[in-house]
Amino acid sequence: MKTISILIPAYNEQAVLGKLFTRLHTLADNNEKYDFEFFFVNDGSKDTTLEIIKEQAEIDTRVSYLNLSRNFGKEIAMIAALDHVSGDATVIIDADLQDPPELIPEMITWWEKGYDDVYAKRSSRLGESFLKKFTSRVFYNTLQSVTRIPIQKDTGDFRLLDRRAVEALKQIRESQRYTKGYFSWIGFKKKEITYHRDARAAGETHWNYFRLADLAIEGIVSFSIAPLRLATALGTAVAVATFIYLIVIVVRTIIFGTDLAGYPSTLAVILFLGGAQLLSLGIIGEYVGRIFNETKNRPLYLIEELHIGTSKKTR
Ligand code: UDP
Ligand code: MG
Repeated sequence: MKTISILIPAYNEQAVLGKLFTRLHTLADNNEKYDFEFFFVNDGSKDTTLEIIKEQAEIDTRVSYLNLSRNFGKEIAMIAALDHVSGDATVIIDADLQDPPELIPEMITWWEKGYDDVYAKRSSRLGESFLKKFTSRVFYNTLQSVTRIPIQKDTGDFRLLDRRAVEALKQIRESQRYTKGYFSWIGFKKKEITYHRDARAAGETHWNYFRLADLAIEGIVSFSIAPLRLATALGTAVAVATFIYLIVIVVRTIIFGTDLAGYPSTLAVILFLGGAQLLSLGIIGEYVGRIFNETKNRPLYLIEELHIGTSKKTR
C-alpha cells in the first residue's frame, strides 16, 4: 500500500487541533486504499499544542511528530518535516483548517495520474482583509516581473508532492527560505486545482504586515538580482542626464557669459544623488546580508524530540 504523509506545521494551534484530528481521521477512513502518516512539526509552541499531539500519538500510531528546539518559523518547520516524512507522496497543509483536508483525495487522484506537484489555488479568500489581498496581488505581480521562473498566483503551501519533488526540495538548504518559490524552481509535472479558502477555524493568525513585508523582500531578493540592476539603471540615467546638462552649461556660458545663480538646483541635485546612493547601498546590503547568513552555514533547525509512528493504523 502507498503511504501519504500529511505534513502539518503547528505553532500555538491548541484551539484547532481537535477539529483537525477529526477531519484527518475522516479523510483516512474514507481512503482506505492508502496508509496515512500524520506528521506534525511543533514549531516551539508556547501553549499545549505539543501535549495534544503527544496524546494523539499514544492512541494513534499514524501520528508522527517533530518537536523543534524553539520557534523557527513556518518555512523552516516545513523543511524540517520534509527531511523526515516517509510517504510516497506528501501533502503540506496548515493546521488551522484554512486548507480543507477534503481536497486531498482529488490531489491523490491527480498524483496517481502522474503529476508530481498538485497545488491548490484559492478561488476565494474568506476572512482576509481587502488590504491583505491587495498587497499580496501587488507582490505577486512584482515578483513575477523580476524573475523568469513562473510564480503561481494565489497559491499557498497547500499541495501534494511526489517523493521526487520532496527529494528535490530537501536539496535546497538555504537558511533564509522562500519555499513558495522553490516549488516553482524545482519544476516537475504540476497540476492546478482550485478551492475556496475558508477563514481560520479557530485561534489567531501569526501573520502581520512586518512578516508579510519580510517574506516579500525575501521572495524577490532570493529569486532575482533585478534590484541590483535598478541601481545600475538609476546610476546610468543620472550620468547621462548630468552629461547633457554639462554641455548645456558650457554652451550657455560661451554665449551668455557667467552668472552665479543655481543654489536651489545644486541642493536638489545633491539631495537626489544622496537618496539614490543610499537606496542602492540598501539594495546591495540586502544581498550582502544574505551572503553573510548563508556563509555562516548553521544548521537549519535543531530537533528537541522526534517520534515516528508506523503509518499503519494498528489501534
Ligand atoms: N506556523 C508555524 N510557525 C510559525 C507560524 C506559523 O509552523 O512561526 C504554522 C501555523 O501553525 C499554521 C501555518 O503555519 O499551521 C500557517 O500559519 P497562519 O495560519 O498563522 O498563517 P496564515 O494562514 O494567516 O497565512
Ligand atoms: Mg492560516
